[in-house]
Order: sequence, then C-alpha cells, then structure tokens
Amino acid sequence: MTEKQEQASIVKLLRLIGAAVYVLGTTRKRTDFHGTMQTPGIPDVFCYLPRPKHGGEYQVWGYLPMWIEVKAAKGRLSPAQVRFRELTQAAGVRYYVGGADGLAVELRALGYLR
Ligand SMILES: [Mg+2]
Repeated sequence: MTEKQEQASIVKLLRLIGAAVYVLGTTRKRTDFHGTMQTPGIPDVFCYLPRPKHGGEYQVWGYLPMWIEVKAAKGRLSPAQVRFRELTQAAGVRYYVGGADGLAVELRALGYLR
C-alpha cells in the first residue's frame, strides 16, 4: 500500500472507533515544492480517541490525544519528524508512526478493538 492508501485506512479506522480525526498532511507529487507552509516535522494526522469500550490502560480518561505519522512500508522519519516525536513523547502524548495494520494492533492493545 502507498502512504496515501495507508492514511485513508488509518482515518477510516479511527473514525470507526469514534475518534475525532484531524488530517494535516496533504499528499503531494514528489516534484511539488510549493507545499503546505507547515513547519517540517508536523505529523499527518492528529486525533482524540474516545473512552475505550473494552477496558484497557486509558479507561479512566475521557479522551486520549494521539499524533500519527503515516508511513508506508520502509518509510522513515525525517530529522524534523524525529524531533517532533521526541517532544511529543517527552510531553507524555502518544505518537504513532507506521501504517494501518500496526495502528490496529496498537488500538487493540489500548482496548478500542477486540
Ligand atoms: Mg507521512
């Protein structure tokens, strides 16, 4: 799957479990440098996960913020993305990088999916 397809699956999965989803990343052609005007390192998706239905680590919380950097297989974080992840995790906020299958595993562990 391409990164664009992974992102579409991720957004669908998050909406399925009732998350409030905000897409920041826009997919561009490789040659398009007239970009988003966003600061480098900002992930592709931000969401607020609802309270898990099936128990799990975060059951007592109403909402769980999470940043998501979508990557297709073999995709790697840029230095700016690594820095954003460091700051996010240091602030105690969840940061996920990868594709839809890996996210499903993580959401299951958190109690959002059976
Ligand atoms: Mg990405």
